[in-house]
Amino acid sequence: MRYRKAVTFSYDDGIEQDRRLIELFNHYGMKCTFNLNTGIQSPESWFEINGVRISRMEQSGLAKLYQGHEIAVHGLTHRSPEELHSEQERAEEFLTDCDNIERLYGVRPVGMAYAYGSYNDATVEYLKKIGIRYGRTTGVSHGFSLPGDPLRLQATCHHNDEKLFELAERFLAAEGTEEKPLLFYIWGHSYEFDVDQNWDRMETLCRMLAGKEDIFYGTNRECLL
Ligand SMILES: [Zn+2]
Repeated sequence: MRYRKAVTFSYDDGIEQDRRLIELFNHYGMKCTFNLNTGIQSPESWFEINGVRISRMEQSGLAKLYQGHEIAVHGLTHRSPEELHSEQERAEEFLTDCDNIERLYGVRPVGMAYAYGSYNDATVEYLKKIGIRYGRTTGVSHGFSLPGDPLRLQATCHHNDEKLFELAERFLAAEGTEEKPLLFYIWGHSYEFDVDQNWDRMETLCRMLAGKEDIFYGTNRECLL
């Protein structure tokens, strides 16, 4: 996709709070990539932070919920990629997740987010072999350049980054070119908004960024490939 400036989002784990986040994104015309673990997509997979219940969603209805956004790999069972030591273990965790995503959502995934932000060269080489073309780490750049190595991608920032709004202002004022386009890439988990009670933070960001003629709003795939 050719653009001078683009915004994209990346949210992990397929949990209940995604519903509210999608409503927000759809309202403001934002596009997101959701990184899912198809082997544990069930309310039986849950945990708690500060008394907030964080539960994965039931699989049924998710294709409709995520319509218009991108589904990417996050590992079949959210295992740390660095702890996978054989081709067989990697195939189970990544290839099976790819196959499930294609079956459930109708599109073969081309990207992923590393569970726990963990990755190594063996993981990256394996992913390349199975057609994965970008992989998001948990590193942040505080910049807008397209990633030099998309399989070791750093986001611009996490949504809780203290520089979030400063970066948004800087992005709005900046001018990209066709040769050097700018990408504002934000990542996080939707449950964090409940835990931190700061949904207004995302609403403010969307309001700031929405409806600009010079900004392309795309999924990770659309913005990176
Ligand atoms: Zn995760």
